[in-house]
Amino acid sequence: MPFADVILPVPLDGTFTYAIPAEMQGKVVEGMRVVVPFGRNKAYVGIVARVHNEQPQDYEVKPLMHLPDDRPVLLPGQLSFWQWISDYYMSPIGEVYKAALPAGLKAEEGYRPRTETFIRLTANYHNEAALHAALNMLARAPKQQSAFIAYLQLSGWDMVDWSDVPSCTINEISRDELMNASETTLPVLSQLVKRGLLETYEVEVGRLNSGGDPHPEHIKALSAPQQEAFNQILFSFLKKQVTLLHGVTSSGKTEIYIHLIQRELDQHRQVLFLMPEIALTVQMMQRLQRVFGSRLGIYHSKYSDAERVEIWQKQLSANPYDLILGARSAVFLPFQRLGLVIVDEEHETSYKQQEPMPRYHARSAAIMLGAKTLLGSATPSLESFYNVQTGKYGLVKLTVRYQGIELPEIQVVDTYDLQRRRMMNGPFSPLLLTRVREALDQGQQAILFQNRRGWAPMLECPQCGWVPRCEHCDVSLTLHRTMNQLTCHYCGHSYQIPAACPACGSQQLRGRGFGTEKIEDQIREIFPEARVARMDLDTTRTRNAYERLIADFSAGRTNLLIGTQMISKGLDFDRVSVVGILNADAMLNQPDFRAYEHAFMMMVQVSGRAGRKGKRGQVILQTKHPTLPLIRQVVRHDYNAFLYDLLAERQAFHYPPYYRLVYVYLKHAKDSLVETASIEMGSRLRQGFGDRVLGPDKPVVSRVKTLSIRKLVIKLESGINMPKVRQYLLLARNLQMQDKRYAALQIYYDVDPL
Ligand code: ADP
Ligand code: ZN
Ligand code: ZN
Repeated sequence: MPFADVILPVPLDGTFTYAIPAEMQGKVVEGMRVVVPFGRNKAYVGIVARVHNEQPQDYEVKPLMHLPDDRPVLLPGQLSFWQWISDYYMSPIGEVYKAALPAGLKAEEGYRPRTETFIRLTANYHNEAALHAALNMLARAPKQQSAFIAYLQLSGWDMVDWSDVPSCTINEISRDELMNASETTLPVLSQLVKRGLLETYEVEVGRLNSGGDPHPEHIKALSAPQQEAFNQILFSFLKKQVTLLHGVTSSGKTEIYIHLIQRELDQHRQVLFLMPEIALTVQMMQRLQRVFGSRLGIYHSKYSDAERVEIWQKQLSANPYDLILGARSAVFLPFQRLGLVIVDEEHETSYKQQEPMPRYHARSAAIMLGAKTLLGSATPSLESFYNVQTGKYGLVKLTVRYQGIELPEIQVVDTYDLQRRRMMNGPFSPLLLTRVREALDQGQQAILFQNRRGWAPMLECPQCGWVPRCEHCDVSLTLHRTMNQLTCHYCGHSYQIPAACPACGSQQLRGRGFGTEKIEDQIREIFPEARVARMDLDTTRTRNAYERLIADFSAGRTNLLIGTQMISKGLDFDRVSVVGILNADAMLNQPDFRAYEHAFMMMVQVSGRAGRKGKRGQVILQTKHPTLPLIRQVVRHDYNAFLYDLLAERQAFHYPPYYRLVYVYLKHAKDSLVETASIEMGSRLRQGFGDRVLGPDKPVVSRVKTLSIRKLVIKLESGINMPKVRQYLLLARNLQMQDKRYAALQIYYDVDPL
């Protein structure tokens, strides 16, 4: 009797063997979905990894229950891709399966109906008094209250003009969207529905992108330097699978990508275009759609699951999208004839998945797909730069901006000195305010960058120094004025702002530092005539909010944009003449070996938003450390000097890219237990790895969501036998977990952490 090894969506290593019943014989093949019994009375949709005739000896196999499809949902090669991710990132294959397939394909009932549940405020509460009464009523049900408030904010009900409700715009909010944005659960929402505050309704999900006819004639002719780079890329691909395109901001990398894509499409091959974050896709999507029309498909997690299932099916069909634009999960899509992968902004850390498993890096994964791969960036990652140096990747450089526009002039402002002389206006230097004023007067736009959202990074009692902290995490809370609450940026929990200091009774609690909310507030005061917008996580929780902010700024309806790192990324605006980096030090002072790397890239990327069209842009960089070599390298746009300095340091201190890092995390509710376990784990690992093991240590934030955390670091020299390393690591973890005291202990590995 034949058997099938099946991958199940469970966090256990390996596959599970089932018997293939007579009526299914000959029909079951690798990559197919099967429904199988598991545990006492559960059924799962699994994926067939292998069909064979080897009867398992030590247990009785159960038969497959059901075959939902008549062909595989995976294409050849995808299973070994999963296996690579599972091995390399030390994550059970079941976790890879969970990450890879849209939920609709993993659900037992097969594909979900094409509707999505939306939520709205019931008509009874479309007036201010009733709404206030409702909020008061919910005071004793804080979870419901915060879910309800989140709904009001997302939908815009918190901003309506009560004298004219019918003409106010209320956003449609899907249930998933609300749950994603507010960490709310289904039961909490059901309570609100039961109370008659909210009601649900079904909406048919948007049909797949019907982008219209392709228009190859919209492709722009390349400039001479761009054409040269294009040719070099093709030449490089003759010898290397991977090529790095290092092109300064606004050099026209995107135009080159478009030419490369068209070339692949002409040769009947598909292209995968990866972007680091969903937030960035709007402008890119429009640029690609203009040329490729309905040949372009978009795939990312903000799309509904039904839409993602549909795209998956289409990619299996005879008429797949030729070009897929997606965030990191798009590497899991089936491609029938993939010719090229483009990894745009390849240095971006959001390519690495943090939670949950598998903690994979989409750039590394994309390369494993085996197609020609182009990595593009104005600030390449150290890893990629190193791979160029060692000859593994090809390199193509584009050093001039399109139409020869100069890179922005970066002026450094010493805020330490200005503060001493009492010349700072809150977070703004006189020079910055002058430049912003000039920009606005001349009909230009300005961008202000501050990498902290909220009103103030912390609240503080000026009398006794008391600072409110999260009950569940080891961090101070961020003050949010618009929502009138304190929020934990680690677990999302929010708290009321205390009226007085619980330690000394002082009523003068005040916020310390500047978040984007406060910056916005002060800017509005200084420039009352400016049309100000703010772009951060808080203002972009809905799918459309981000698009609206971008569209408004693009069209000049707003002229002063304040934002977090969201604004640093790949955006292309024509009229931005000034960019202000309000506090470079906040980025430099992170306790992480990558702090300088991230800070440098962030500053270059943010600066790159200035002066992309027309005249040279200006950047005002505010720091207390104007003489740092790194700051001077930013000013000179001297990426190479920065890289060589950093590489030398990394080599000296045994850090990537010279050494490979594996972080070991241990988590448990009880601090003393995680302490003992991590010390034991440390010596266990040292038995195998000797002094390659550092720690255990408490990470900077040593408690998150009520779990205490310890961290060990393993530094592995290149050339070490990685399969053996992995084997030892898995064994060490299993041995540690066998101890009954550690039943609830979590141990996981993060390979190539960022
Ligand atoms: P990058 O991706 O390197 O930041 P972009 O491709 O966004 O640069 O180019 C910057 C701006 O210059 C964009 O608005 C783009 O449309 C324009 N541009 C670049 N190259 C060309 C070209 N060959 N013809 C016309 N416009 C171009
Ligand atoms: Zn106090
Ligand atoms: Zn918290």
